[in-house]
Amino acid sequence: MNAEIIAVGSEMLTAGRLDTNSLFITDHLNGLGIEVTAKHVVGDDRARLVTTIRRSLEDADIVVLSGGLGPTEDDLTRDAVAQALGCGMSANAGILEAIETRFRTMKRQMPEINKRQAMVLDGAEILSNDRGTAPGQWRVTGNKVVVMLPGPPSELKSMFTRECLGRLAKIAPPTAIHTEVLRVTGISESQLDQTVAPIYVGRANLETTVLAHDGDLQVRFRAQCKTQADAAALSQEVAELAAVALGDNVYSRDGASLETVVGRHLAAAGQTLVVAESATGGGLAARITTVPGSSAYFAGGFVTYAKRMKTELLGVPESLLAEFGAVSEPTAKAMAEGARRVTGADWAISITGNAGPSTDGDQARVGEFYLGVAGPDKTEVTHRVWPVGDRDRARAFAVQAALDLLNRRLR
Ligand code: ATP
Repeated sequence: MNAEIIAVGSEMLTAGRLDTNSLFITDHLNGLGIEVTAKHVVGDDRARLVTTIRRSLEDADIVVLSGGLGPTEDDLTRDAVAQALGCGMSANAGILEAIETRFRTMKRQMPEINKRQAMVLDGAEILSNDRGTAPGQWRVTGNKVVVMLPGPPSELKSMFTRECLGRLAKIAPPTAIHTEVLRVTGISESQLDQTVAPIYVGRANLETTVLAHDGDLQVRFRAQCKTQADAAALSQEVAELAAVALGDNVYSRDGASLETVVGRHLAAAGQTLVVAESATGGGLAARITTVPGSSAYFAGGFVTYAKRMKTELLGVPESLLAEFGAVSEPTAKAMAEGARRVTGADWAISITGNAGPSTDGDQARVGEFYLGVAGPDKTEVTHRVWPVGDRDRARAFAVQAALDLLNRRLR
């Protein structure tokens, strides 16, 4: 079963306004297993609206319109739907009375034009509006449905939730949805897709999406089947095959973030972590501490931006900084080992790099980073260059990669 949404209103075609109602409607339709196959935005133009409604009714089982139910001349939705369906309209006494009462309560005279809002298509059910004057309408035509909703988002949401969800659930096909999520890091979005595409392409009843944000990837397998057991079996089978193909780049299968997974490992081992950050200026510590309860394993951190601070707080030798520069493998190693030594923590991560936009005195390339992880057994330093050309993104990639390196050591 599929649906199309038509947002009505010329303002929605200007740069200042966005059709957000369709996002809300789409979310709820999808939840009922109804696919949204097209969305339209149409100005206050009757002929265009009639054509769009007719076309949508050819292609979709359900057509949902939002907006254009107001009292003025340019509120055309009722008239356009009546014309598209070739049906009549008449004033509904109950609605008229409700609108008049609403105006009386506000101690105002109802303008004559508000009578338009009481016009109901022949054969339509009325959808009550508890936030405004314009009622919605639900009109069955053949084996299809046209739903008319008001434009103001608060009115639409309330009406849709109270009046439409139940009606839609009755006509939606029996369906069950199960989603499996793999969270992945250490590879690019295209590498991920290349690896998993042969597993999901061509599978019926399965929708796969890949989301990427600053080196943090998610692949979601959403199965839609007749029963919950079938949906779970399909998405779990595909997720299992994908997890095997992606190997140790998968860091969680229960939706947990990378910082949460790192925290779980540390807590389970009863170990502690400190960080020594230069270019990321505390971004790594900030991310680690987004996890509730992180004080159980995260001791704290050093933001050693200037060379002098690297020496004074972490004991990085001045001679080493002079010889290799702040953005170098020996400096990253000395920062991590120094942080571990002075705090007594089990693990220390160091980050030093040049986030750009220009090279600094050390002549490190823009986007060039050294990430150190010092642990009970050894210290490892990884050299990475992110040609992202964006300071914030380079820093976010560095934080992600540093957490990834620690996670690979911990598990
Ligand atoms: P009213 O009785 O308030 O006139 P209406 O059904 O005629 O209701 P419109 O006049 O089309 O609705 O829109 C009223 C307001 O609702 C718009 O100014 C806009 O701010 C908001 N709105 C309309 N359509 C949408 C939409 N698709 N997404 C988000 N907001 C919308």
